[in-house]
Amino acid sequence: MKPFIYDYSLEELQQWAIENGEPAFRGGQIFDWIYVKRVNDFSEMTNLSKALREKLTEQFEFVTLTEITKFESKDGTVKFLFGLHDDHAIETVIMKHNYGNSICVTTQVGCRIGCTFCASTLGGLKRNLTAGEIVAQVVQAQKILDERGERVSSIVIMGSGEPFENYEATMTFLRIMIHEKGLNIGQRHITVSTSGIVPNIYKFADEDTQINLAISIHAPNDTLRSKLMPVNRRFPFEDVMESLRYYLAKTGRRITFEYALIGGVNDQPEHAAELAGVLKNMLCHVNLIPVNHVPERKYVRTSRSDIFNFQKILSEQGVNVTIRREQGHDIAAACGQLRAKHMELR
Ligand code: SF4
Repeated sequence: MKPFIYDYSLEELQQWAIENGEPAFRGGQIFDWIYVKRVNDFSEMTNLSKALREKLTEQFEFVTLTEITKFESKDGTVKFLFGLHDDHAIETVIMKHNYGNSICVTTQVGCRIGCTFCASTLGGLKRNLTAGEIVAQVVQAQKILDERGERVSSIVIMGSGEPFENYEATMTFLRIMIHEKGLNIGQRHITVSTSGIVPNIYKFADEDTQINLAISIHAPNDTLRSKLMPVNRRFPFEDVMESLRYYLAKTGRRITFEYALIGGVNDQPEHAAELAGVLKNMLCHVNLIPVNHVPERKYVRTSRSDIFNFQKILSEQGVNVTIRREQGHDIAAACGQLRAKHMELR
């Protein structure tokens, strides 16, 4: 297979142009065709010579995402199941907010992290996506939005997979997304979410970006977190917190903690009080997520009153907290559910 053109940053395309006897600015022209004019055929790049277009066709290809299914929610959320060239399938979601359109992208086919409340991990990890395959999800979403004159205004890396286990591809993807000569997505409008891969939290802290960091914490202590998230045995709770203190000292940027509320498991007042104790005085925000029902697991949903009580306890301790507005609940928008269904049907 040829490499995907979407795998390359602007600087790499400029380098490729030079290596092929062209001036560096040709790389910029290619980047512009791909991300501003959004063509997906080299023959359409009409300000390049025919010879150069042929060379591009010989050496690269575009990522093709084939739409297997699409579900539209009443709230405007659209969830896609896309087929890749090798018969794997991934999910991408477009969420409509009053401030714009947010895209939730996937970084891996499946996931090996094993969070017990998540459908994405049920079949394990199949493979990493390339940077270009992550990029293609946003480009595809943008082309859909182009039809109604709208744009992708924010990106969340919260789909299937653990982005910090596919770190280099994720960082290349981010560099392409934020480039002012391309899609030019504001750094502060991008959030990368990790289950707590400690070495790469340190690495990310040193990247000098303004991209937001979210941590899937889901428990207030080491013991419970290990039960819900096996990754905690590899990177224990306190090590994750230590890496986050480093991140905060280095970047001064607020951290988001994702906390999936699971009925009777981690949603009791004592859990809220313990979490408040851990997060007190930390520059952070807690996002409470009432867990979606995953048929393969036996978890039940937290009652409305328990959700609000949990929020109140955190709030009273001075922890900044919101309850995530559920989107696409009627179309299985939680990560991995659509793909899991698709795999069952095959
Ligand atoms: S929640 Fe995220 S990290 Fe955990 S298993 Fe699912 S996809 Fe992987």
